[in-house]
Amino acid sequence: MSVLNVVLYPDDPLTKVASPVEKIGPKIQQLAADMFETMYEYEGVGLAGPQVGVAKRIFVLHEPDGPKMCFINPEITELEGQEEGQEGCLSLPEIYVQVPRATRLRVRAMDEHGKPIDFVATGFLARIIQHEFDHLNGTIMLDRIDVLSRHAKLQEWDDIRERVIADGVRG
Ligand code: ZN
Repeated sequence: MSVLNVVLYPDDPLTKVASPVEKIGPKIQQLAADMFETMYEYEGVGLAGPQVGVAKRIFVLHEPDGPKMCFINPEITELEGQEEGQEGCLSLPEIYVQVPRATRLRVRAMDEHGKPIDFVATGFLARIIQHEFDHLNGTIMLDRIDVLSRHAKLQEWDDIRERVIADGVRG
């Protein structure tokens, strides 16, 4: 397993719509393993393909005290409720925002072994799934907040991004 380079906003392919995974085999299993490794290295709770430069519909997550899972070609249905909660993103380190999300959803996907996934998620798990699913459509958490807050956070990000790149940590 290896730690992958994390793409910083707004570099490619973060703002693009990712394409479906066509074949679930050893390559995807290796990618999923590397994505888990990368997520743990940077202490995230979720990571999507476009964040490691792979414009494919795959994401991994590990909710603290919850499941560790890989989702391939996911579909979200039955979104219900709304609640604001804090989010961060490995592609925008040090930026934290309050984002409104559905409190309950149903997700269907395949895991990295081709096994079907179909379950209802609530609370923080539902939030992680919505955040990572957004990445597959080129959407980031700042696209989900009001325009004034978004503008302020993007200005804040400009300075942080410069420093993160200068530090050579990633990017
Ligand atoms: Zn993110």
